Amino acid sequence: PLVLGIESSCDETGVGIVRGRTLLANEVASSVDLHVRFGGVVPEVASRAHLSAIVPALERAAATADVDLADVDAISVTAGPGLMGALVVGIASAKALAAYLNKPLYGVNHLVGHVAVDLLDHGALPMPSLALLVSGGHTSLLYVEDIATKITEVGSTIDDAAGEAYDKVARILGLPYPGGPVIDRAAAEGDPTAIRFPRGLTARHDLEKHRFDFSFSGLKTAVARWVEQRRLDGLDVPVNDVAASFQEAVCDVLTAKTVDAAQHFGVNSILIGGGVAANSRLRTLLEERAAAVGIELRRPRPALCTDNGAMIAAVASEAITSGVSPSGLDFSANSGLPVGTIVV
Ligand code: ATP
Ligand code: MG
Ligand code: FE
Repeated sequence: PLVLGIESSCDETGVGIVRGRTLLANEVASSVDLHVRFGGVVPEVASRAHLSAIVPALERAAATADVDLADVDAISVTAGPGLMGALVVGIASAKALAAYLNKPLYGVNHLVGHVAVDLLDHGALPMPSLALLVSGGHTSLLYVEDIATKITEVGSTIDDAAGEAYDKVARILGLPYPGGPVIDRAAAEGDPTAIRFPRGLTARHDLEKHRFDFSFSGLKTAVARWVEQRRLDGLDVPVNDVAASFQEAVCDVLTAKTVDAAQHFGVNSILIGGGVAANSRLRTLLEERAAAVGIELRRPRPALCTDNGAMIAAVASEAITSGVSPSGLDFSANSGLPVGTIVV
């Protein structure tokens, strides 16, 4: 099917067009520059930016894909989770378009989009699979039996998300928002063994109750204390070494638990998705550790890891192929939509 996907859950206005599993267009307008001086996304600012960006993004996507929007088979939009005021802009736009063009509308889970987007890069996903979802607001392990109909969360963070930890540590180091890409680059110049930072929920007694769960707030506090002590001692902060050592702690835990879960659930493949899946160290370390136990790793290209409209269209395309019913025009934004609800 030819599917239009609209994403507006946070600070990216995304419009994507796919035909089946083929990516035809993926226009992303980010309002990140407007949020930099606040050190995080300001919801009202994001909403207003979506309002002005959505129509031009729709026009550019149609032009790039060389399709007339009247010819699409379905329209899809992020129904949640995300910022309420941001979600409603995409949903209202999608409903207006669906009503005007008389097309079926699918309200899609943003998190499933992060996991499904790899389909557009590497084709059919081997099922069942174990997915590591690592983004700005979520960090979970998912047992994926069918990308369009059956996903179960088997573990998640008990405090901060991995992306949130990157953003907070960047702030501690005086680096700009968003912290993920900046720390990724700084870490490339640093020594990952310089400082041994804690690996959350990996002690024997934690593994009993939290084998597939994550915790990053203790790590963030450890970095803050270490940096503070350095400053008290009147010493320079070796930013690249701190970044590399922090990143090693995050990626060590993420990859160890993902491979453990994949083996526990007996799957042959691991999928990654979400903004942090763009991280260079996560990608190489997981590749090494998965290969060591004979498990295939599927990783979307970095540009598709962060928020975009194509990932929403990818989920809808699979749902349509699987015979999932459209959502109709009556659904509302759900800022806390659980990952098991793939289409609302
Ligand atoms: P959610 O998907 O949970 O609703 P979100 O949509 O805000 O949250 P994403 O857009 O998926 O999150 O990802 C943004 C996060 O990814 C930010 O925290 C950012 O710092 C992080 N990130 C982006 N690139 C990298 C990278 N190369 N390394 C580490 N983190 C990264
Ligand atoms: Mg963003
Ligand atoms: Fe996201």
